[in-house]
Amino acid sequence: MKITMNPIVEMDGDEMTRILWQEIKDTLLTPFVELNTEYYDLGLVNRDRTEDQVTLEAARAIKRLQVGVKCATITPNAQRMEEYGLKQLWKSPNATIRAELDGTVFRTPILTSRIQPYVRGWKKPITIARHAYGDVYKAVELHASGAGTAELVFRSDRGEERKEIYAFKGPGVLQAMHNREDSIEAVARSCFTYALQAKEDLWFSAKDTISKVYDGCFREIFQRIFDTEYAEAFKKAGITYFYTLIDDAVARVIRSEGGFIWATKNYDGDVMSDMISTAFGSLAMMTSVLVSPHGYYEYEAAHGTVTRHYRKWQQGEKTSTNPIATIFAWTGALRRRGELDGNNPLSAFAEALEKACLDTIEAGAMTKDLAALCKDSDVRALDTEEFLGEIRTRLEAGLKA
Ligand code: NAP
Ligand code: MG
Repeated sequence: MKITMNPIVEMDGDEMTRILWQEIKDTLLTPFVELNTEYYDLGLVNRDRTEDQVTLEAARAIKRLQVGVKCATITPNAQRMEEYGLKQLWKSPNATIRAELDGTVFRTPILTSRIQPYVRGWKKPITIARHAYGDVYKAVELHASGAGTAELVFRSDRGEERKEIYAFKGPGVLQAMHNREDSIEAVARSCFTYALQAKEDLWFSAKDTISKVYDGCFREIFQRIFDTEYAEAFKKAGITYFYTLIDDAVARVIRSEGGFIWATKNYDGDVMSDMISTAFGSLAMMTSVLVSPHGYYEYEAAHGTVTRHYRKWQQGEKTSTNPIATIFAWTGALRRRGELDGNNPLSAFAEALEKACLDTIEAGAMTKDLAALCKDSDVRALDTEEFLGEIRTRLEAGLKA
């Protein structure tokens, strides 16, 4: 008998990951689970056809069903506009969903003993959370053409505040950044919510010794929300929250064993998430989850649609595309659904599928991207279908046991 479940939001996507999506469902999910999903086709063709309404509808469905799983999607650029004959350069679906859910993205590497992190001491995953609003990404910049005075001015119905920035004697450059308290509060709540669910310590870093007002505001908001809303729950869960300066955080991260969540400001997260994922080994082994401050979860792989592999597939070639991060997006969503509903068989299935994936890699069977990172002589580099088949065999054995 198949495992039954309450519905989750399923968002299909593009190119090679769209092919993987169907193969994963056929091989590893529908034979075992009465998959109950509300399906939204976020493939670029359908986004264009629906004038991107489908993305908004999917985001709203996540608010209703609380859990979603998403395939990688193309973010259109000029070249895609021509390739697909698009009506318009649609926004990144992830940006649309994030804006609708007010969410924060958490990226976590999947570890196996076959792939050694570049940092020898790392034994457990490091999850990185990036505040995805404001700062330098919404900055206003100006080139000062010569001598003159730059000022920061804030005008409101309560009057005007001014500060001199700099009195230039010659040409120079200027930048003004902003952030919003409601956005910082949302990211703080998402981080505390996620830490409680993961049962891992939360670190937050900024540079408030230098940026006393701006970064000081981030630090103060995190601390206030922690003290008033989460301190007790953290204590019960046996986890801690702590703030430290970004440069101290970097040093501690490298010296650590892993096993915690690192919350960052927008720019720090942009830079550090690429460093963390590379240092752990492979983008194809990185999962990503969007968490709203209300506790809605949307799971996906951190990588894109793997266009280069898709071009080969279109020409009839077999590819060795790594499905692990996409499978873990599904298991993340199914486990979450299971936890919310007390559906233990569903959670156990998610667990068994993850174990089957890891056991397959531990046995030396893997896709080419991983085989290239693994020095062991017993490694077998498989194509995608062979690899999924090996996972299926182990999953069946695991479910019987
Ligand atoms: P990508 O799809 O992540 O792929 C970049 C390269 O990384 C691939 O060519 C491949 O290297 C390797 N790779 C990534 N995932 C892999 C996997 N699962 N298995 C094996 N190798 C993997 O990034 P991109 O080529 O820059 O972007 C392609 C499209 O994805 C773009 O249209 C972009 O808009 C979209 N994108 C979407 C998301 C999202 O939906 N979250 C995120 C990023 C990008 P080799 O070719 O060397 O094998
Ligand atoms: Mg980056």
